[in-house]
Formats: sequence, C-alpha cells, structure tokens
Amino acid sequence: MRSLYVRITATFALIAFFSSLLGLLVTSLYYEFSLKSQNERRMADVGETIKQLYERYPELELESVYLPAMAKLGYQLYLVTEDGRTVAFGSPFKHGSLSVGQVDTVMNGRVYNGMGEENRRLELIAYFENSVRNTIGIPLATDVGRAALFIRPDLKQQIGEVRLIVAALLLSTFLLSLLLIAVFARYIVAPIKKLTSATKRIVQGQYDTNLETSRKDEIGDLANHFSRMTDSIRRSELMRQEFVANVSHEFQTPLTSIQGYVRTIREESLVTGDSGRYLDIIETESARLSSLSRQLLTLASLDKGDKPPHRAAFRLDEQIRHVLIGLEWLWSEKQLELHVELEEVVAEGDPELLHEVWLNLLSNAIKFTPAGGTIGVRLRRRADSIEAEVRDDGIGIAEEDLPYIFDRFYKADKARGRHRNGSGLGLSIVSRIVAIHGGTVEASSRLGEGSVFTVLLPAGG
Ligand code: ADP
Repeated sequence: MRSLYVRITATFALIAFFSSLLGLLVTSLYYEFSLKSQNERRMADVGETIKQLYERYPELELESVYLPAMAKLGYQLYLVTEDGRTVAFGSPFKHGSLSVGQVDTVMNGRVYNGMGEENRRLELIAYFENSVRNTIGIPLATDVGRAALFIRPDLKQQIGEVRLIVAALLLSTFLLSLLLIAVFARYIVAPIKKLTSATKRIVQGQYDTNLETSRKDEIGDLANHFSRMTDSIRRSELMRQEFVANVSHEFQTPLTSIQGYVRTIREESLVTGDSGRYLDIIETESARLSSLSRQLLTLASLDKGDKPPHRAAFRLDEQIRHVLIGLEWLWSEKQLELHVELEEVVAEGDPELLHEVWLNLLSNAIKFTPAGGTIGVRLRRRADSIEAEVRDDGIGIAEEDLPYIFDRFYKADKARGRHRNGSGLGLSIVSRIVAIHGGTVEASSRLGEGSVFTVLLPAGG
C-alpha cells in the first residue's frame, strides 16, 4: 500500500532534489551575470601583475624559480614558448588542450580570455572546469624569445577546504532534512491513523472514540466534527435499539395470549374442517411472530454491551451434546446421519448465549439438509483457541449470498422461498454472540454441496 507516510517522504525527497537543481541553476545565473566578469577581471589583473613583475626582474629564472613560486601562491600556469615547448606549473590540468590559433593569438601580443568564453554548459560548472582552455592567456617576453603564459586559479589550493565544507554542509542538510521529514511525517500521519482506527471501531459498534480535539488546525477541526458525528450516531443507535426492544416486548404479550386462546379453543371444542385449519395457521404464525420478537429482543440486548453479561467456565462439549439431544426429533425425523466428534473442552463465557449459537447453527444445518443427508459436528482444542465446526451436505449457499448471510434479515435465495420459517436473524445473532466472546465465525459453502460453519473462540474466554 502506498501510505500517506511514504507519499509525504517521497514528495519531500523529490522537492529537495528539484530545488537543489533549481538552486544550482539560479546560483549559476547569479555567477554568470554578476560574479563572472569580476572573476575574469581579477584573473586578468593577476596575469598582468605576474607579467609586470617578471618584466621588472628579468633576472628571475622563469621556469625554475619564478613560475613555480607563482604556482605555489595558488595558480595553475601553462607556459608555451616560441619554439613550441610547453611546461605546466602547479596542479596539473585535467583535460582539454589549446588550439594552435589560441596560442598564436597570445604569442602575437593579445590577451586570451578562455574563462569568458560563451559556455554551452552551466557557467557555474564551467567555472570549475580544470582545463587549459579555461584560462587567461598573457603574452610574455622572455630572454629566449616570446612566450604565452596561461593562468587560472588553482581552486583546489585556493578554496579546497571551503569546497569540501560547502559540499558537506549541503549533503548533510539534505540528508538530515530527509531524516527529519521521515520522522515528522509520522506526526503528520498519526492523527489520520487515529481517525481511521476510530472509524473502524465505530463500524464495529464501539463508540468510545477518544479523539484529541484541542488542536486548532484542520485536523483538530476534523476530529471535532468526527466526535460530534460519533455522538449523533451513538444517540440514534441507542434510540434504534430501544425502539426495537420496546416493539418486540409489546409484541410478545398479545402473541402469548393469542397462542393461549387458540389452544384453549382447540381443547374445549372439537374444531374440524376449515376452522381447524385456520386455527392451525393462527397458531404457527403467532409462534413464528413470537420467535421473531424473541430473536429481536436477544439482538437488542446483545447490541447494548460489548461483553457477555454472564461469565462462567463450563464444558462446551456437553453443551453441544445437549443441544443435539434437544434437536433429536428434528434430525431423526429427517433421517439425517450424524457425525459427532467432541473433544472435552472447557470454555469461558455466557452459557445461555453460547447455547443459542449451537442451536442456531445446528437447526440451520438440519433445516437446509434434505432427508437422508449427513451433518457433522466437531469440537477441538487448538493452541490458543477453541474450534467448533458444524458441517452439512445440504443445499449449500450461493457464492453471491455468502458474504451477506450474517446480516440481519438476510435470507439467501428468497426467490425460491424454500424456507418460509426463517427470519434471517439466526446467523446475525450467532455472529454477535461470538463477537462479544472475542471470537470469529466463518462460513464456507458451495451451492448443492453443503456448508461449513466454523466458530473460533479464544481459549479460556
Ligand atoms: P434463517 O432464520 O433464515 O435460517 P439465518 O440467519 O439463520 O436465517 O440464515 C441466513 C440464511 O443463510 C438462511 O436464510 C439460509 O439461506 C442461509 N443458511 C444458513 N445456514 C445454512 C446452511 N447450513 N445451509 C444452507 N444455507 C444456510
């Protein structure tokens, strides 16, 4: 992932790189238009002084004393005598040589200005070019004839340390600022990361976002609005939960009395024909509504907390066995084959809620497996978790439905209406209960081949 952190650091590195290039260009222009002519003038002056001094004291040995001494003062010199001999003094020239024309010009008494030549490259870089061409040429009259003396400052000698100091300064500034931006980019990104994790918590229904809102900048603003938004979501979520709980509760009482009356009517009078069928319908429908409102109530109470309301250590294998026994009339009626493999496992959690998990998973397996099919239940202890698996070779779940089966009221394959009895709430209750126990539930399935539901609970909690 290209994170914001990497982006900021990379952007800074690019900015630093391009501004260095731009800085070089600007400095070069400054040198070209302001310093270059001064520099040339100074070099011409130096050349002229060297020449005058020599002409004044011609007894000085030119090649063995005078020019080596001048070189020591910080210049590179290149002497061409009339008979074509060349001698260099001071640090050697690295590259470039003079054309015959250039040498002749000086021999004929004219000053050669190689430093002032129009350069195609950046002037600043040209200034550092250590070549014989990049010199000032001065005609010299010696006791053995004419000569041409080419001279340029020996930069290594004159500004050697300064050059190193400036280079070290620039490099360390660049590297240090890279390092600092890498460190500080974390501070820039940190509040955004906090917001992201707060958003994730809200998605999971945890509204305890503790965002620092004292900052006065845009991030502070964002955090402020975010906190207000969280508050309003929390309030409306609470209202929703209360509403569902109240409605389900209000439903429960009349439904119970309807069921009661139906049973009484049936017991007290012998009802036959259509009326009997109607009573059957009233009974099953009210039973269905009653179980729906019971499930809604369960969900509403589960939504309120993040932790199981009661905690106890109990034998999970025994609980699952009880559920299987309780459902026996259902699986034996359908003549389902049962494969049970339960290790002795002690779990810690709310027994009543976990009972609901196995009940839902196993009744689904029974409900969605045709007569004669097979159902498997396995409970195992893993290194740091408990794994329960409910498997069936029933009708399976289509790939496009699979991601949604844990959503509230989601029923796969509604078009075929193959399970009118379901509410679509069972699996959402399962996933909520498992979540508040700190576990996970996953489903894998193939249409027509069966399904596997795997519950992982933390060992001992
Ligand atoms: P319902 O009350 O409809 O069973 P659930 O939440 O328990 O609601 O399940 C949601 C949907 O997931 C079901 O409607 C069904 O389509 C699918 N489903 C759940 N368990 C199984 C299973 N063992 N085999 C096939 N489909 C299943």
